[in-house]
Amino acid sequence: MAVILTLQLAGCDAGDDKGNAIAESDGKTSIKDLFHDSVKEDNGKQRETDAETAGEQDSSVDMTEDTDTDDDEDVRYQDDYYEFVNKNLLSKIELAATDAHWDWFGELNAVVSNEMENITEELANDGKTYEKGTSEQKIKDMYECVTDMENRNETGLGPLKPHMDSIRNASSIDEYVDALAHLSGEFGFSSIVGGYSIMQDKADPSQYSVYMMYADTLIGKEYIEGENTQEYVDLYLDYINDMFMEFGMTAQEAAVSTDSVEGLLRDICSSTLTTEQLYDPSLTYNVYTQQDLQKLYTNVDVPKMLKTLRVNGQDKYIVMDVEQAKKINSLLVEENLQALKDYSTFVMLNDTAKYANANYAKLSDDMQNALYGITESWGDEKTWKRLTQELLPWEFGMIYVKDHFSAKDKEDVEKMIEQILEEYETIINRQEWMSEATKKKAVRKLETMQVKIGYPDKWPAERDMMQVTPISEGGSLLSNLLVSMQVSIDDSLSKLGTKVDRAEWDVTPQTINAMYDPLNNEIVFPAAILQAPFYDRNNSYGANMGGIGFVIAHEVSHAFDSTGALYDEYGNYNVWWTEKEMDEYKKMSQSIIDYYNNYEMMGVKVNGELTLMENIADLGAMTCITSIIGEDAAALDEAFGQMTYNWASEDTASFMMYLLNTDTHSPNKVRVNAVLSSCDAFYRIYDIKESDGMYVAPEKRVGIWK
Ligand SMILES: [Zn+2]
Repeated sequence: MAVILTLQLAGCDAGDDKGNAIAESDGKTSIKDLFHDSVKEDNGKQRETDAETAGEQDSSVDMTEDTDTDDDEDVRYQDDYYEFVNKNLLSKIELAATDAHWDWFGELNAVVSNEMENITEELANDGKTYEKGTSEQKIKDMYECVTDMENRNETGLGPLKPHMDSIRNASSIDEYVDALAHLSGEFGFSSIVGGYSIMQDKADPSQYSVYMMYADTLIGKEYIEGENTQEYVDLYLDYINDMFMEFGMTAQEAAVSTDSVEGLLRDICSSTLTTEQLYDPSLTYNVYTQQDLQKLYTNVDVPKMLKTLRVNGQDKYIVMDVEQAKKINSLLVEENLQALKDYSTFVMLNDTAKYANANYAKLSDDMQNALYGITESWGDEKTWKRLTQELLPWEFGMIYVKDHFSAKDKEDVEKMIEQILEEYETIINRQEWMSEATKKKAVRKLETMQVKIGYPDKWPAERDMMQVTPISEGGSLLSNLLVSMQVSIDDSLSKLGTKVDRAEWDVTPQTINAMYDPLNNEIVFPAAILQAPFYDRNNSYGANMGGIGFVIAHEVSHAFDSTGALYDEYGNYNVWWTEKEMDEYKKMSQSIIDYYNNYEMMGVKVNGELTLMENIADLGAMTCITSIIGEDAAALDEAFGQMTYNWASEDTASFMMYLLNTDTHSPNKVRVNAVLSSCDAFYRIYDIKESDGMYVAPEKRVGIWK
C-alpha cells in the first residue's frame, strides 16, 4: 500500500521488537493490573496511590528502582497529566541494555513474539519430519537455515554473488543500470534507479499501477540534513566503511568509496522530498507514459530497463519523486560510474547483511544498536528466532489466531466501531464551516468504510507460494530469502492488470497496531491489538473507550486528516471539498502545526508538519470519544487515564532523536498532553486553572473536529 496510516510507528525494529522490558522477565505479565485497578471514579490522589499498590503487588514487574515516591516531588495532574498517570509505571520500567524503547505496543509484541519463539523452539527440537509446504515444515527448515552459522558463513553472498559481480564489473552506465534492473525485476532490490512497486492506483484504486520508487537514501534525508544529527551520520559512514572492508576492500579503498557514497548521498538528499511530503499525493502522484519517462531519464535506455523490470507496455507509470528522479538522471554519467557502483554495492550489502555471514550480520546489528542507543545485542538465539518470524509472517499468523481470537471480542469491538462511526456523523453534521453537500460526502465516506477485524478469511497467495528449501536439499538462509523476495514480486506482477480485491489483507494478525488505508477507505484491527491494555472485556466502559475506543476513533479520523481528506469514499485521489472549505481546513491545519511546534522533547522541538496527520487523528479521536461519553465525569476520567496509560513510553535519547526526525507521530508524552490540553471535556471534569501546566486558553485549543 502506498500510504497506510498506522497507530504507532511501524517497520522499525527498535520500536516494534525491542521494547520488552517486562515481558522478558515473565511472559504472563498482568498488564491491566498495573493500572486498571488504579483507575478510580474520582481524579487525583486516589489513582496514584492505587497505581502504586497495584505495581507493588505485581511481582513480574522489573523493580529495578525504588518505587517509593516522595510526596514533595509529586507531579500534579494539572501540570503534567502524562507524568502524573504514568509516573509509577515508568518508575518500574528500566530499559534493558538490549532495548531502545519501551511502550505497550513493544510490550505486547514481545509477549506475542515470545510465544512464537517457543513454538519455533519446540519444532526445532521435536525430531519430527513434516510434510513439505506445511507451516511446521517451513518454520523448522527456515530456522535451521537461520541458525546454521557454518552454512551461512560458507554461503557468503552465495546466490547473490553473480548479481553483485555484475554491478562491480559494469563498465558503462548502461551496464550498471542493466545490473540494477535485473536485481529489481527478479528480487525487488532497489538502490538508485529501477526500483518499483505495484500498488493501487490513487486515481482509480480498483486497478493496480506501477509506481517508480525513489532511491534508497540510507540513513535518510532528515538525518543527513538535520541540525542535531551529525554524530549519527558519522556513525553511519563508519558502518559503510566497515561493510566495504568486510567486502574485501583495503582500508584505503574503503575510505575512498565511503567518501564517494557520502557525496552522492548528500547530492541525492538535496533533491528528495521530506517524509511529510511523501504523504502528499499532489507531490507523489505524477503520471508518466513510457515516452515521458524517457524524457525524464535521458541517460537511461528506458524501454530496455522497463522490459528487464518486467513492467513494460503499461499505459502509465507513476513517478513518486520527480525532482529526485531528475537529480539521479543527472548523476548517471560515466564520471560517476565508480561512485554509483559503490553506492549500489553498499545498499545490497546493507539489505542482505542480517541474512549473510556472521560478520555482516554483526556489523548491521551494531550499527542499528548505536543509532538507537542500544548497548547490548539480543544474543544469537533470540535474533535467530525473530528473524525466522520475519521471514514467515503468515505462517506464524495462522498459528497465532488459532489461540488468540474470540468471536465475542470481535462482536464487542464491532459494536464500538459502529458507535464511533455514528458519532463522527454527528460531529461532521455540526461543523459550521462545511456545506451540506460536503457533509453528505463525508458521511458517505463513513458509511462505506470497510472494517477488517482479526484476520483474513482468505490467507494471502504469497503464503502458499513461499516454499522453504532445507539445507539438506541445498537451501541456505540467503537462497530462501531470495525465494521469498521473488515470490513477493511475482505475486505483485501477477496482480497487474487485474481488479483489486478489497478483501485482501496486507497486515498480519499478530501485528500490534491498527491502520487506516485511504485507497481502500478501510480500517484494520489485527487480532493482536484486541487485548489489554487496549481492550479488555472486563474493563469499565470508560476505560475501553479510552483504550480501544480511542484507537478506533484515531483510525477513523485518518479518513479526514490532511491526507485522507484528499481521497473520496472509493479511495480515489479526488478533492471533494470546495475551495473555501479547503482554505478553512488549511487554516486549522496551520494552527495545529503551530500548536505542536511549541512542544519539545530533550530540548528538540516537535516537527508540527511531519506529525500533522497523526495529530489531527489524535485530536479528532479525543473529540469523538469524549462526545460519546458525554457528561459522565467518572467515565471521562477513566477514559483519559486509560488513554494516557496506553501511551506510556520510555526511550533512549538516541531513539527519541530517531523518532523526532522520522516518526509521523508526536512523541507519546506530547500525544497525550497536547491532545488533552485541547480537549474541552478535560477542563470540564478537572480543576485546571490558568496557572497550570496543562492549561491552554480556549481560543488557542486546536483540532479540525470540535
Ligand atoms: Zn495514525
